[in-house]
Amino acid sequence: MRHPQNWSAQNRPAPKPPARYRLDVFPAFHKVAGRRVVVVGGGEEAAAKVRLLGESSAEILVVTPRAEPVLHEAIAEVGATHAARALRADDLVGAVLAFAATGEKEADRKVVLAARARGVPANAVDRPDLCDFYTPALVNRAPLAVAITTSGAAPVLARRLRARIEAMLPAGYGGFVAFADALRARVQAHLAGAEARRRFWGRFFDSAAAPLFFAGEVAGAKREAERLIEEAASPSRGFVALVGAGPGAEDLLTLRAQRHLQEADIIFHDALVPASLVAQGRRDAERVAVGKRKGCHSRSQEEINRLLIDAARAGKRVVRLKAGDPMVFGRAGEELAALRACGIAHEVVPGVTAGLAAAAELQLPLTLRGTASSLVFTTGHGMHGETLPDWARLATAGTTLCVYMGRSVAAGLAARLAEAGLAGDTPVAVVENASRAEKRLLVGTLADLPALQRRDDITGPTLVVIGEAVAAAALEKAEPLIAERKIAERLAA
Ligand code: SAH
Repeated sequence: MRHPQNWSAQNRPAPKPPARYRLDVFPAFHKVAGRRVVVVGGGEEAAAKVRLLGESSAEILVVTPRAEPVLHEAIAEVGATHAARALRADDLVGAVLAFAATGEKEADRKVVLAARARGVPANAVDRPDLCDFYTPALVNRAPLAVAITTSGAAPVLARRLRARIEAMLPAGYGGFVAFADALRARVQAHLAGAEARRRFWGRFFDSAAAPLFFAGEVAGAKREAERLIEEAASPSRGFVALVGAGPGAEDLLTLRAQRHLQEADIIFHDALVPASLVAQGRRDAERVAVGKRKGCHSRSQEEINRLLIDAARAGKRVVRLKAGDPMVFGRAGEELAALRACGIAHEVVPGVTAGLAAAAELQLPLTLRGTASSLVFTTGHGMHGETLPDWARLATAGTTLCVYMGRSVAAGLAARLAEAGLAGDTPVAVVENASRAEKRLLVGTLADLPALQRRDDITGPTLVVIGEAVAAAALEKAEPLIAERKIAERLAA
């Protein structure tokens, strides 16, 4: 048995997108090498299409009785053929695509109908209703091509995205893709299983081979590729990455976390990690929710350790995806100890912890010259012992406290801090769902804090920040902790 049966029950397939997200166009790449593409028209529009087609290895036939100089130039530039006459039916025989660019509606319509009559898909420049297909904004890094469309909704957006993608892919990127292509036979011959090949390719594009190649050190890039092939060939030993998912916003995931998710065979995630982040994992990766949300059924830590170890022993690349940073109230200590004890290779990928995300939401400097010079990350739980936790004493001395899991114990927390000597008017800020769309900011004083526990409108993950530095936060968007009370006077002052 590969996994306990209940794993697959929790392995959610990606849901089908709702109808409103379905495309009315379907991207596909036409094979045009050595095949004819017909452009009809004599002016600027025709010239633009000829230049665009010149990015491909199509045989371009331009049909127009009169070509303007700009078209002549384009024809010469890309090596197109010019038939200086009206379109004839046989021009379209064997053509892959046709472009109507005459600048006149009726003439364009005739070209489109003639093309369709011969089964050739047609595009009429700036006449979407006549088009069988649209031309995308194109990033050409042959053999790599990126085509972008907004289905006509926002052409400017398509161009902006193109610019960003162009910047991502250096001009010589096509050469690197061709280099990868040349490695395929070697990889195919040397790496038997699909799994090993995927492992290789998953690492290759982010490896040192890329910078070496771009620096012109092709031999070095080849050596690096060989090394990666050897590494992928050795029977996989399984690997666990404890990965911080950050506070919830998709763009607060680190690039390293993203890479691990892309390479994962299986992802064990906390209930706190939003689905949109879990979805960033490799498409075929198994996804297993392992708790732990307050009050919901979740697995014991021992069970989770066991799942991680079993999956790694089965040779899988395992991602343990945790909210925020794995090393902050993430039970990483137990998981690391278990992995070490079993000799399983592992790595920790940091994430943005909730305390820092909350500070960003509040624009609250956690350390502040002359006000707060130390920072305590603590939890509202485990306060029931007789001895006062150290941080409670610290709280009086220029410290900012970030309290995790504090909502349901807010009253006890406030009482203990008061006992330790913290003034009742010490400012307190609360952030629910930091970094997420549904975030809420609340503010008050230590005396108000017990009210947090009674507010059943606050159900998301909540972080409490306590200390004088809170007064320096941007609190205009915050609501008062106690509804009928205005934001404490000293904060407003
Ligand atoms: N490892 C996590 C903390 C896990 S403990 C981290 O580094 O952030 C769970 C607690 O984290 C929650 O009870 C809440 O106090 C806090 N938390 C996690 N995500 C949060 C968010 N988006 N907004 C506010 N608090 C959050």
